[in-house]
Amino acid sequence: MHGEKNILRRYLLFICLVVGLCLSAMFMALALRNTNLLHKQLLTQSRAYFKSIVLTRRWSAEHGGVYVIKRPGMESNPYLENPDIAAADGRTLTLKNPALMTREISEIAGENDLYTFHITSLNPLNPNNVPDPFETEALHSFETGLRESFVIEDKDQGARVRFIAPLLVEQACLPCHAKQGYAVGQVRGGISVSFGIDEMNRSMRQNNQVIIALGIVTVGLLLLSLWLFFRQMQRRLDKAQALLREMATVDSLTCVANRATIMARFSEGFARQHRQVASLGCLMIDVDLFKLVNDRFGHQKGDAALKELAAIVSGSLRPYDTFGRYGGEEFLMVLDGVDAKRLAEVAERTRTLVEQKLSAACGLPSPLTISLGGTLVFRGDQGIDDVIRRADQALYLAKDRGRNRVELILDEESEPVGASPC
Ligand code: GH3
Ligand code: MG
Ligand code: MG
Repeated sequence: MHGEKNILRRYLLFICLVVGLCLSAMFMALALRNTNLLHKQLLTQSRAYFKSIVLTRRWSAEHGGVYVIKRPGMESNPYLENPDIAAADGRTLTLKNPALMTREISEIAGENDLYTFHITSLNPLNPNNVPDPFETEALHSFETGLRESFVIEDKDQGARVRFIAPLLVEQACLPCHAKQGYAVGQVRGGISVSFGIDEMNRSMRQNNQVIIALGIVTVGLLLLSLWLFFRQMQRRLDKAQALLREMATVDSLTCVANRATIMARFSEGFARQHRQVASLGCLMIDVDLFKLVNDRFGHQKGDAALKELAAIVSGSLRPYDTFGRYGGEEFLMVLDGVDAKRLAEVAERTRTLVEQKLSAACGLPSPLTISLGGTLVFRGDQGIDDVIRRADQALYLAKDRGRNRVELILDEESEPVGASPC
C-alpha cells in the first residue's frame, strides 16, 4: 500500500516534470520566434527609413540641390563653392545640397526622438561624416559586395538598432560629382539609420512576464487538478483495496476470519511455536444437528444462527486468539500459549456459553449446542494438517459420545482425554 502511494507520488512528480519541461520548451520556442519576428520587423523598418531618405536625396539631387531663404543665424554650406545667391527681391538664398539636407533632416528626427541618419564614407570631406566602428566595418564589407548591415547595440544609453546600406551614385549625382570621378552605380559611402528600441524592449519584457505568469498559473492549476484527481483516485483505490482485503480474509456470512485466513494464521503460529510442546492449541467446533435447524426453521434461520454463534464465540476470546469459519457450520479456534488444562477450560467455557445463549439469541424454541474436538501441537507434527486431523478425530468422538460435549486428544500415543462430558 505504502509502495503504491510512492509509485503514484513518483508518477505525479514525473508528470509535473514533463509538463514543466514541455511548457518551458514551448515558452522558449515562442520567445525565440517572437525575437526573430521582431528583428525582421526592425530590419524592414530600417530599410524603409533608409529608402525614404534616399528618395528625398534623389529628389534634391535631381534639382541640383534646393535653395532656401537664408534666415539670420543660418550658415552656408562650407563644402560648396558658391552656396549663396541673391534673389530678385534682394533676399539671400543658400543652397542645401543632398548631404546637408540629410544631416538636417536627421537632426530634426533626432530632436523628436524618432531616428537619426548619418551619411558617411571611408574618405569623407566633412569631418562630421567620419564613420564610427560599426559603419567602418560595414563600409569595408560593401567593398566585398555586401549590400546592408544590421545590428542591435545594447549600450549604457540604451538599446538601439543600427542599419547601414551603401549609397550608390545615381545619374542625379553626376552634375555635381562627375569631376570627382563618380560613376553611376559606384559605392561612395553609405547612410546609416539608427533608432532606440528601449520602449519596445520594455513592452517585450512585460509581455514575457505576462506569458511566464500565465504559464506558471496554468501549470499550477494543471498540477493542482492532477493532484486532486490522484488523491481522489488514491482514496477510491484504498477503499477498494480495503474491501478486497476484507473480502479475501473475512467470511461474508459470519464476519469472522474465513478459512484461508485462519489457516494462514495457524501456519504462522505453528512455524513459530511447534518446537514448544503444548503452547499452541486448536479447537474444531461443529454445530449439533444443524441440518434439523435448516429443515425445521429454514436456511435463513440457519444463517442467523451461524452469525450469532460466531458473535458469541469471538466475543469470548482473547485478542490474540484466532477464530474463524472453517466451512459450513464448522469453526476453528487457534489458541496461543495454552497448555492442556487451559485448552480444556476454554473449550468447556465456549460450549457452555453457546448452550446458554445461542438458541435464545436467534429465537429458537429448543437449545442449539455445539460439539468441540481439541488438541495441542505435538513435537512430531509435520504441519497444521496433522493438528487439524487430530482435532477432527476428537470432534467425531464428541459426536459419537452424544454431542454437546468436548473431547481432547492431548498425547500422540494416548487415548483422547474427555475434558468435561456434559
Ligand atoms: P451433526 O450433529 O452430526 O453435525 O449433525 P448435522 O445436522 O449438523 O450434520 P452435518 O454437519 O452433516 O450437517 C451440516 C449442515 O449444515 C448441512 C448444511 O445444510 C448446513 N449448512 C452448512 N453451511 C450452511 C450455511 O451457510 N447456512 C445454513 N443455513 N446451513 C448450512
Ligand atoms: Mg458439520
Ligand atoms: Mg453439525
